[in-house]
Amino acid sequence: MRRREFLAGSLAAGAGLLSAGRLAAAEPPLANAPVPGDAKMPFQQPPLPFAMTALAPYLSEEQLTYHYGKHHAAYFKNLNALVEGKPEANQSLRDVVVASSGPVFNNAAQAWNHSFYWDCMKPGAGGEPAGDFESFRKAMSEAAVKLFGSGWAWLAADSQGKLEIMPLSNADTPLKHGREPVLTIDVWEHAYYVDYRNERAKFVEGFWGVANWPFAAKCYAAAKR
Ligand code: FE
Repeated sequence: MRRREFLAGSLAAGAGLLSAGRLAAAEPPLANAPVPGDAKMPFQQPPLPFAMTALAPYLSEEQLTYHYGKHHAAYFKNLNALVEGKPEANQSLRDVVVASSGPVFNNAAQAWNHSFYWDCMKPGAGGEPAGDFESFRKAMSEAAVKLFGSGWAWLAADSQGKLEIMPLSNADTPLKHGREPVLTIDVWEHAYYVDYRNERAKFVEGFWGVANWPFAAKCYAAAKR
């Protein structure tokens, strides 16, 4: 993709950033080791890609312990119960998300969305990338802060590499809209209630200090295949 093609519009910064050569180095694939739990269950919560204490002071160990260990884990537990003995139990989590509806979708999507979200953060990441990052950051933050109720602010790409900020409610995900997720911020209150109480804007602002741009660049590259 030519840089000029997507250096237009409010997403210029994000796109320019994702095309930057210094972000092109491939990240090692995530460790796929199963986490402690029932190994017989078809869907296993992946391990957190960082220590529970690693994102402090942005997110405390207590916040992550609840979010990963209680909320995220519950979606896997619920999903496994819902699909027991059903065809979905033999599908990939992503395929279940794309094809399902109702409670199976809600739990499958939340299981997938959170696994993606953890990879969107990295200790010591963030920073001030080159380009018109400020307008992208503002637009994404605004989408996250203004989303009514529970949901996710997504940066997503279509197969042509066109980027879009998508605020989506509840468990909804770009995968359901034919888009490839590139970056996300969880704005369910359970994502920030320990550290930020009701102050979603402060939680969203802090995200930019840990945003994992190499991961986003990898997702963006994959979207265009
Ligand atoms: Fe969450």
